Amino acid sequence: MYQTSRPRGESPVSIIGAGIAGAWQALLFAQAGHAVILHERSDAAMTDATSHWAGGMLAPWCEAEIAEPVISRLGLRSLDLWRAELPDTPFNGSLVVAHARERSDFERFARMTSEHRRLDAKSLAEIEPSLEGRFRDALFFPGEGHVEPRRVLPKLHARIVAAGGSIRFNSEVDIDDLGGIVIDCRGLAARDAHPELRGVKGEMILIETAEVQLARPVRLIHPRWPLYVIPRENHLFMLGATSIETEDTGVSVRSALELLSAAYTVHPAFGEARILEFGSGLRPAFPDNLPRITIRDGRIAVNGLYRHGFLLAPALAELTLGYVECGQIDNEVMQCA
Ligand SMILES: Cc1cc2nc3c(=O)[nH]c(=O)nc-3n(C[C@H](O)[C@H](O)[C@H](O)COP(=O)(O)OP(=O)(O)OC[C@H]3O[C@@H](n4cnc5c(N)ncnc54)[C@H](O)[C@@H]3O)c2cc1C
Repeated sequence: MYQTSRPRGESPVSIIGAGIAGAWQALLFAQAGHAVILHERSDAAMTDATSHWAGGMLAPWCEAEIAEPVISRLGLRSLDLWRAELPDTPFNGSLVVAHARERSDFERFARMTSEHRRLDAKSLAEIEPSLEGRFRDALFFPGEGHVEPRRVLPKLHARIVAAGGSIRFNSEVDIDDLGGIVIDCRGLAARDAHPELRGVKGEMILIETAEVQLARPVRLIHPRWPLYVIPRENHLFMLGATSIETEDTGVSVRSALELLSAAYTVHPAFGEARILEFGSGLRPAFPDNLPRITIRDGRIAVNGLYRHGFLLAPALAELTLGYVECGQIDNEVMQCA
C-alpha cells in the first residue's frame, strides 16, 4: 500500500466514475495524500454502473482458463490489495463442479488452470455440506475470494472519504471542464474518447433460500458460459452470468432458463428458492478484451475491465499511482499517446 507523510494537495486529482475502477483509483490516491474528488453521475445506489450487477469473484486462477496471463498477474496483486484494504473479504476459495456429460470439459478446465486441489465427493461434502452426494468430485481453488459488489462499493466509498477524499454523486462531468490530474473511469460511457469500446452483456438472477448454505462460489462447467452460484449474505444467491455480444439490456427467457436450470442442477432445493431480481450489465471491453490505462494529452483513462473489474481494479489503481508519482510505465497495460 502506498503511504506518504506529506499531503500532495497542490494538484487536485479528479476521478470520473465511482464504479469499481474509479473507487479503487480514488482510494489509493486519497491514501497517498492527493486531494481527490470522485465524480459519479448516478446516486449512491450506483444502479447505472456495471459494477452494481457483477458477481464480485476474485478468481485469478479460475479465470486463467480463458484469460491472458496479464489478468493473472494483475489479479494476484489485487488479491493482496483487497486483503490489505478490507481484511474481512472472504477468501474461502472457489469450487468448480461438472455433471457427467461435461466430464471432458471439466478435465480440460483442470488442465488449463493451476493452484487447485481435486476433492473427492467426501472431501467436497466436508467443506460444503449442502453439496453432499451432488458431485463425484470438484476442483478447489483455495486462494480465491469474492466480494458482494453492492456492499463493497459503499465500503470503498466510505474509505475514500475517511482517507480525505470527497465524492460527488449526481455529478455528471465533462472531462474537458476539469483541471489538474484527471482519471477517466467512465466505463462504457467513455466511448467518445475510446470508440473501440464495446459492451458485452452479462445477465444475472438473484434468488433467496435458506435450504442451501454455501461458503464460496461454485462454478458449474457449461458448454457455452462459465455459470456460477455465489452466496450472498441473508440467504441470497447470485446466479450468473451469461456473456453475450450485444448491448441490448434485460434478461432473455433463454438465459433465465439456463441460469435457473444450472442452479437447480447444483442443488434441487434451488427449485424452491424465491426469485428476487433479474438483471444485466454491460461489461466494458476493448477488442482484445484486455484492460488498458491510456495516457493522452495529460489525461489518464482506465477502462476495458471486461469480466474482471473486481479482480483487476486494485492493481490498476496501483499502476496509475505509480505513473503519477514516479513516472513508472507498465508496458503490458499502459498506452502513452
Ligand atoms: C453479470 C456480471 C457479472 C460479473 N462478474 C464479475 C466477477 O465475478 N468478477 C469481476 O472481477 N468482474 C465481474 N464482472 C465485470 C465487472 O462488473 C466490470 O469489469 C466492472 O464493473 C467495470 O467497472 P468500471 O468501473 O470500469 O465501470 P462501471 O461500473 O460501469 O462504472 C463507471 C461509472 O462511471 C459513471 N459515469 C459515466 N459517465 C460519467 C460522467 N460523465 N460523469 C460522472 N460519472 C460518470 C457511471 O455512472 C458508472 O457508475 C461482471 C460483470 C457482469 C455484468
